[in-house]
Parts: sequence; structure tokens; C-alpha cells
Amino acid sequence: MLIDITSISHGMGDYLSLEWTARPDELNLDTQDDAEYSAISFTGRLENSGKNQYILSGEVSAVSTTPCARCLMPVTNPLSIQVREPYSPGSLESNTGLDAEGYRYEGHVINIRQALHDNLLLASPPKLICQTDCQGLCPTCGQNLNLGHCKCADDHPSPVSPFDQLKTLL
Ligand SMILES: [Zn+2]
Ligand SMILES: [Zn+2]
Repeated sequence: MLIDITSISHGMGDYLSLEWTARPDELNLDTQDDAEYSAISFTGRLENSGKNQYILSGEVSAVSTTPCARCLMPVTNPLSIQVREPYSPGSLESNTGLDAEGYRYEGHVINIRQALHDNLLLASPPKLICQTDCQGLCPTCGQNLNLGHCKCADDHPSPVSPFDQLKTLL
């Protein structure tokens, strides 16, 4: 999203209120291999903080869908992140947000896309499971063990029970 800051460029403390509902591709989130994002929105403001610096603040939210780390079924995860990012004048080539001066803008336009993209990705947990007792997939046949048992377990001898071990000890 491109924001024209002309109207707030004169007075420190001037701000623009922002409401944005974004498609995944508008935040470069459509190219993630293992996660899909939907319902992306941002509510907040862009404020003139003096010395040609601006502060983007507010809340970005989205729903991520990733495969369960054990059974690969999709897991949806609502994300809601408080954003606070400074913008300084400079070349967009160095628009990484990684240094103390934050993101860059050129001229009278600030693009808030990179900051929202970065905040969403940083807040996305790398591995989620669908439920705490997810049984995962059978390593032999790939059956989703949450949906039912496969025949493979019958073919393997069950592990020795502690009671049998006790018997031998006695
Ligand atoms: Zn699972
Ligand atoms: Zn199996």
C-alpha cells in the first residue's frame, strides 16, 4: 500500500489513519512454500515523528494455514501483531527495516508493504501441530493415525511391557 505523506509532512504529530485489507500477493505472501495467508488486514496510523521520520503503528492481522508438523493436515492459526516501525528518508534499495533507522521511503510516498510482510512472517510459528495429541502418520504406510489405525502395528511385535521385565528380574 502506497501512502502519500504530503498532507502530514509539515507538522510533527500529524498523522493519517489507515485501514487496509490486503490480498496475499499484495504483501508478497503468496509465494510462501508451506503457509497460506488469508484475511489480511491492517488498522493503524502513520505519524510524522519529526526530522522527516514517520512511525507506522497499529495492528496487522491474518489467518495462516500450514500443514500439521506431524500429520500434514491443514492447521489454521489466527495472527494479530502490534506493529511499530520507523521510516526514514533514503534509498528504497536499502529498504530492509533491519537497521536502527528502520524502513526507507523516497519522495512523498511511503510503501508499508514490506513492514507488514516482515511482521507477519516473524510472528508466524514455524511448526504447528493440529492437536496436542496428534498421532501423526504411520511411518510405514502413511495412514493418518488420527483417523484410524492401520494394519502395520499388527505386524510389529509390541514393545516389551515393564511388567514382563519385572517378571524376568524376579
Ligand atoms: Zn496433526
Ligand atoms: Zn501403517
